[in-house]
Amino acid sequence: MQADLQTSKPRLRVMLCAPRGFCAGVVRAIDAVERALELYGPPVYVRHEIVHNKYVVEGLKRKGAVFVEELEEVPPGNAPVIFSAHGVPKSVPAEAALRNMFAIDATCPLVTKVHREAEVHHRKGRDILLIGHARHPEVIGTMGQLPEGAVTLIETAEDARTIVPRNPDNLAYVTQTTLSLDDTAEMVEILRARFPNMAAPHKEDICYATTNRQEAVKHVAPGVDAMVVVGAPNSSNSQRLREAAERAGCGLAVLVQRASELDWQRFSNITSLGVTAGASAPEILVEELLDAFAERFELEVETVTAAQENVFFPLPRALRPDAAE
Ligand code: SF4
Repeated sequence: MQADLQTSKPRLRVMLCAPRGFCAGVVRAIDAVERALELYGPPVYVRHEIVHNKYVVEGLKRKGAVFVEELEEVPPGNAPVIFSAHGVPKSVPAEAALRNMFAIDATCPLVTKVHREAEVHHRKGRDILLIGHARHPEVIGTMGQLPEGAVTLIETAEDARTIVPRNPDNLAYVTQTTLSLDDTAEMVEILRARFPNMAAPHKEDICYATTNRQEAVKHVAPGVDAMVVVGAPNSSNSQRLREAAERAGCGLAVLVQRASELDWQRFSNITSLGVTAGASAPEILVEELLDAFAERFELEVETVTAAQENVFFPLPRALRPDAAE
């Protein structure tokens, strides 16, 4: 009976993008919360979603993490307060210190690198253009490294064409780490043409994980009928993966948090599928998605690898074994 059912399923060629899913910054941030729970016991407070993924956040909540948006929501006491991977404005650690909080910073080191770059430019008297998305926590954190007015946000090519800086000869740019490679390249090109003396990052600010995941999608998307990105709607790098698939010519590119969100009617006539996951989406959710497709199709799965990754970031200092002792 089962065999009959299986053979009656249509065939589906699945191209699994690699790399996909967790990056080193996300692994470090989640490990930081888990390690703090082990060392100090619950509750461990976390300012903002530690990474943009509901499944991860719910799992940590069950272990005793308490998520807050602002420090004022944390009751007095010695419980650790962890800052999320996206980074925070300088005012946040300053407030934590003022309130004698046990603060642990899980900002991704690649976001911290952008913070330090912005500070160096500021010290050199340069006005800073930050290419990024307004209201994203990383952008709020980067802008908040410097006094108000020191950083101007560039969100679009139109912004790049029309910005009127105070001193066009003394400018620098930095970017959010999780942007579209192509959109950013376009904005940088426009800015460079207008401000040839503008200082640039020594090494791209868009991180290795964003770059590699987008490259893999660009390899796969032109050759498949549909692409599913597993990730959260508030995850910038996941949104960029969906866009990259669409721009690479894939007619149906969707971003879902869980397989249960899929509108199966839209996938009824496909014969090939690309699958990837944003940097904050765990592999178990990709497996769940593949299982859901396997219930409806006979899958032939192939992995398409755009880059090998071996990046690792050690835990924040306060959580390393030597510090705990
Ligand atoms: S996406 Fe990049 S910048 Fe963001 S946490 Fe991962 S490695 Fe760090």
